[in-house]
Order: sequence, then structure tokens, then C-alpha cells
Amino acid sequence: MDYDVIVIGSGIAGTLAAINAARTKRVAVVRKGYGATALSSGAFDIAGKGGRRGRPFKGILSLSEAIGNILDNEPLHPYSILSTAFMGDRFNEFSGMVRTIGDQLFGELGADGMRYEGSWESTAIIPNQHGTFKITSFCQSSMISGNLTRLMGRAILFIGFERTAVHNKTRASFISDTLSKYGLAPFKSIDCANIDLQSHGIRCDGYDFISIAGMMDNAEYSKRVLGILRQSLDRMEYEHVFLPPIMGIANHRDVLKMFTDSFGDTVSEFMSPPSSAPGLRLQYALDRLLARHGVAIIDGDAAGTGPGDAIKTIRVSFKDGRKASLSADSFVLATGKFISGGIVNGRTWQEAVFGLPVFIGTHRVRDPFPMGHLTDDPFDKQELFSIGVRTDSSLRPVDANGRTVYKNLHAAGSVLSGYNYLYDKTGMGTAMITGARAGIFSAG
Ligand SMILES: Cc1cc2nc3c(=O)[nH]c(=O)nc-3n(C[C@H](O)[C@H](O)[C@H](O)COP(=O)(O)OP(=O)(O)OC[C@H]3O[C@@H](n4cnc5c(N)ncnc54)[C@H](O)[C@@H]3O)c2cc1C
Repeated sequence: MDYDVIVIGSGIAGTLAAINAARTKRVAVVRKGYGATALSSGAFDIAGKGGRRGRPFKGILSLSEAIGNILDNEPLHPYSILSTAFMGDRFNEFSGMVRTIGDQLFGELGADGMRYEGSWESTAIIPNQHGTFKITSFCQSSMISGNLTRLMGRAILFIGFERTAVHNKTRASFISDTLSKYGLAPFKSIDCANIDLQSHGIRCDGYDFISIAGMMDNAEYSKRVLGILRQSLDRMEYEHVFLPPIMGIANHRDVLKMFTDSFGDTVSEFMSPPSSAPGLRLQYALDRLLARHGVAIIDGDAAGTGPGDAIKTIRVSFKDGRKASLSADSFVLATGKFISGGIVNGRTWQEAVFGLPVFIGTHRVRDPFPMGHLTDDPFDKQELFSIGVRTDSSLRPVDANGRTVYKNLHAAGSVLSGYNYLYDKTGMGTAMITGARAGIFSAG
């Protein structure tokens, strides 16, 4: 065998699977690129509540209430499927496991300089550039001081950069208008201001956030931007400032330190749209985690081979046209959903690597245009987004009759069916928990 365990995909689910299996096994990750994890805001939604209308503070559940709701009412959600393994107090045992996995991951990321902060009890409310906000459990430390629940009564200021592609004066004022409209107004004041970096000789004309964040990795560039911000903000009234998510990517740790040395916790980044510097920071940190755990990273496109009730090899196609077969005792499928190509729609919908059947609820989806699973109300659940592979309680994919397809294949992350991160706010949570569990199952 080339490896004991091969994990396909290196987003949050694949990484968690690989590092957990690597505690006892020889592990390789095969990946064709970056997926949703790198595009995401980098925040970890563990469980929340979607489909809210009206004022935000009315409908926010605590994390334990939200997990309890899922276990009680969503039997096909991966949290519920995993929790069936617990014979005693299902809720407490499952919640304890979630916490252990999360603490371990955030501990490892923090030791690498990618600090996450948040709470297992309450949720944070972080604004974004659309003028709304995100309710989440854990986010990067460059954002956490911007938790609106701790800024009540303060004077807050949103900063935009003139002449950049995605943030200008109109949008900054839109943010403050919308926050007030949602009832997030018990602040001393909400204001916005634009700073023209270009007029100070800083190149950023037409740049988006991620391009500026990339430039900030350069120490000279970030020092100059910080100097201009300092100068401009010294002339403004504020108690907390929201900046676009621009505090570096590869060199985030140093850029963040510069900002905290200068502003303490009075400055934070707001939630990022895709493409996202915080998402890329997280993905880079996950890559470093794989390396630290001795996981081999193989850049290639994986395809399943042959019939039978166990997988022996996968074929890997490399960018330079070479192909290879790789063998292992166990495999983990962590290929994501639409964006990363884990679930595809051709003549029918299917999982892309092994051709596994995919489901919405208990219904196997064959119709290439399952429009009946979408509604025109954005607050509805939109079942189409829960399409994916169904599994047993050991995360082994099953067919329409509930029979295990391959005895040595486990699936994790957004390739799974039964959850809808837009609705139940369990995006990173599901990927992290199922990833860790799939890694442990695959290691035997
Ligand atoms: C724009 C966006 C924003 C989001 N924001 C949030 C948020 O703020 N909070 C939150 O909790 N969740 C958020 N989510 C959801 C969350 O990002 C995902 O649930 C999570 O990242 C899924 O991780 P994953 O590891 O399952 O998949 P991915 O991160 O998509 O990884 C899939 C991996 O599989 C690889 N792959 C696919 N096919 C193959 C193949 N044939 N061969 C080899 N490799 C293959 C890909 O290259 C990639 O490495 C967001 C999602 C999106 C798209």
C-alpha cells in the first residue's frame, strides 16, 4: 500500500480527517485545488438559526439551544447522524465531542499564530460590507473585537478606501444605514469615512479587498497604510473602527501585530465577502497543519476506480498530464459540494469521484433540474443546497436502500447531505466535526 489512509480534498473537512488519522497512520491528501474553505469568511458557524425575518436580536439562539434543536428536529443532519452513536445523554455527549474537536483545532491554529476567538456558549455578531451582519461562533482575532454585542453604547466608525473596486463612500454609508434599520442602533453613533490611500502614493486603484490584503503582506506597504490610517483616524471621533478585511494573508500574524500595537482592540476587520483574505489565511494555516502532522500533500485530480465493496486504488491526474494510481487501506471523501466540484450535475446529479448517489432528505436525486427544491422566498430552507451523499453513523456512504457502498470509504464536510449551511448555520461546524470523525473512523 502507498498509504494507510488517503484523504481526497484539503478544505476544513479533509484537513481535520487527515490530521486525526495521521496520529497513528501514514496519510496523504490528494487535492485538485482550494474550495469553499478558502473562499469563506473564515468564521466558524457551529450552529445557529436561519430564515429569520425582522430584527436580529429577537431570533438568536445560544449555541447549545441551536445544537439541541438540530438533534431534536433534523434526524438527517450529520450532527444527528453522528450523535446516534451515543447511548447515554446524547446531547451532552455530542456537545462535549464538538467542543473537544473545536478546542483542539483552535489550539493548534493558535499555536501557529492563526488565533481564533469566540465562545461555546454565546454567539458573536460581526458586521459585513453589505450592511448586514453575520452571527457566528468563532472568528479570527482580527475580527472578534468587532462583536457588535460588546460595542453597544459606543461610537463606531466604518472605514472605506476611495477608488478601490468594492468599497466606496456609498457602501460605507449603506452599512451604517442598514445596521440602524435592523435595530442595531443602540450605539452612541454609527458613522463612515473614506480614506484615499492613492492620494498618499499607495497603489490600490481598482483593487478589491483581497488584493489589498495581499499587498499588506509586504512590510513596507503595510507600514505606510498603517501610518496613513493612524494619521486620518487621529482626526476622527470613534471608539471602535471597522476596517475592510485587509490585514494581510500569508503574513497576517505580523500585520495584525502592527495593528494591535497601534490601536489595541479598537480596530477590527469586518466580515469578508468572497474572495476572502481571512478564508485564504485559514486555508494556508490548514496547509501548515497538514505539514506539521506529517501528511503528504499530492496536488492532483482524483477519480475512483473499479467495482467491488472496497476501494483499493484511486487514479490521480496531475497538471502536467501525468497519471498515477495510489493505493491505501482506507479513503476519506472530503471533496466539498458545488464550488469545489464534489457534487456535479450532468445527465443526473452525482458525487464526482466515485459516482455515489446523492440525496435531498431521503429522496435520491436524479432529475438534472430539481427546481422543485428551490423556492422564490430567500428566507425559505432551499432544500437543493442540502444535496449530497448520505451516510451511516460511521460516515460511510450508503445507497438508496441504506446499504454501505464501500466498507473502507468515509465521507465528510459539504459533500454530505442533510444540512444546509445557509439555513442551519453549521457550515464550518459540520465540516470540522465530520472531518475529525471520518479521520478517526478511517484510522480504525
Ligand atoms: C462563499 C462561501 C462563504 C462561506 N462562509 C461561511 C462562513 O462564514 N461560516 C461558515 O461556517 N461556513 C461558511 N461557508 C461554508 C463552509 O465554507 C463550507 O461548509 C466548508 O468550507 C466546507 O469545507 P469542505 O472541506 O467540506 O469543502 P471545501 O473547502 O470545498 O474543500 C473541498 C476540497 O476537495 C477538493 N476536491 C474536489 N474534487 C476533487 C477531486 N476530484 N480530486 C481531488 N480533490 C478534489 C477541492 O480541491 C478542495 O481541496 C461558506 C461557503 C462559501 C462557498
